Amino acid sequence: MSSATLKPDILILGGGIAGLWLINQLQSRGYQCLLLETDTLGGAQTLASQGIIHGGLKYALGGTLSSESESIAGMPDRWRQAIAGHGPVDLSGVQVLSETQHLWSAGSVASRMTTFFASRMLRGRIEKLKRPGFPSALADPRFKGQVYRLDDLVVNTESLLDVLAAPVRPRLLHLDLSRDTLVWGENGLQAVELAGQRIEPRVTVLAAGAGNADLLERAHKAHLFKAESSQSRPLKMMLVKHSLGHRLYAHCVGTSNKPRLTVTSHEMPDGDLVWYLGGDLAERGVQRSDAQQLQAARDELATLFPWLDFSAAGFAVLDVARAEPRQHGLSKPDNAYARRERNLIVTWPTKLTLAPDLGDRVEALIDETDLTPGPALTVPENLPLAPLGTPRWFSLFEGTH
Ligand SMILES: Cc1cc2nc3c(=O)[nH]c(=O)nc-3n(C[C@H](O)[C@H](O)[C@H](O)COP(=O)(O)OP(=O)(O)OC[C@H]3O[C@@H](n4cnc5c(N)ncnc54)[C@H](O)[C@@H]3O)c2cc1C
Repeated sequence: MSSATLKPDILILGGGIAGLWLINQLQSRGYQCLLLETDTLGGAQTLASQGIIHGGLKYALGGTLSSESESIAGMPDRWRQAIAGHGPVDLSGVQVLSETQHLWSAGSVASRMTTFFASRMLRGRIEKLKRPGFPSALADPRFKGQVYRLDDLVVNTESLLDVLAAPVRPRLLHLDLSRDTLVWGENGLQAVELAGQRIEPRVTVLAAGAGNADLLERAHKAHLFKAESSQSRPLKMMLVKHSLGHRLYAHCVGTSNKPRLTVTSHEMPDGDLVWYLGGDLAERGVQRSDAQQLQAARDELATLFPWLDFSAAGFAVLDVARAEPRQHGLSKPDNAYARRERNLIVTWPTKLTLAPDLGDRVEALIDETDLTPGPALTVPENLPLAPLGTPRWFSLFEGTH
């Protein structure tokens, strides 16, 4: 038997960083919220991300600070405050994998880096290191490049998901599109029938990442958001499981204005580390077959770390795409993205880093609607809860030691 219609102030579709950040922030403002997730919480992009909370300096490798680098410069501090328990979203308990990031040059581009990093603009945000301060993976005497330390942090995305889900757990419901229905009207989402329970939201936020494309199509049919569409930027990430030690959180600077290689390190249950490889390797990798990408990763590691022996390491390929609002020429959007039409808001954080920016933007859009918090909502216990996702390195290397 279904209970009385649930009337949340705000219904959020999608339980990645965007949806989970927003439900925490909006609940703390007194709004009664529910979140619906079709798969696992965080299981699409959020748990596939490298967890780097960056201030944008890696975008400045071309030699100047773009508007993108300016706009996200304040984000690491916002996250640090949230992790310290201050701000609208409480992230205390989130595990910080590294308080800093490194940038290293493989040699030939050293002089360009020196000129650029010496510029006034960057003072205080970056520090050139002497050899004793190098990360252990670059401490070998054969390494001849330069190393800089950036004021960016890296978070454990699994602990991030846990901390965001815990305070709102009964409100994170599982939506099964083969069973449940969404009813659209000219003002937005009119109702959802979920496992026999009717839900009638006052405002709906689309935070479904790649799933926003399909939701927008349905909204278009109800004459909403006709001009909105999304884009997808595919990546072929590489994972390398090894027992060499060396926790590395770093970007290698090549000759282009993008990092040649970005490495983050993640601990496995057997004590091994997984080096998760992104950057240019992953962007160019989409043109390669899995076998070619595997070889490209092996070659890149042999070139950049000739003193490390990866012959006993396990390698895995991960095809995953970033979902973003459509931009000209597939360029990267500058900020978090949020737009409202009537009672419907569409969002893309575009980066994990920009979740606080997304929170600000969505709150401002909700303020425009004059929505006042309704009475406390009791969520029936029989409704299905959305399960938590797990990072991909656990499933990709399952059973290997
Ligand atoms: C390989 C990779 C590495 C990255 N590294 C970084 C990084 O180091 N730093 C950084 O700042 N950013 C990084 N990013 C970007 C960042 O991960 C994303 O911008 C961010 O996670 C997007 O969050 P989201 O909540 O919008 O989407 P998602 O995490 O994809 O969540 C969307 C959720 O919506 C659900 N869903 C889909 N359709 C529906 C529907 N109809 N109804 C309800 N739910 C639905 C999905 O199942 C999913 O759980 C990376 C991205 C990738 C792909």
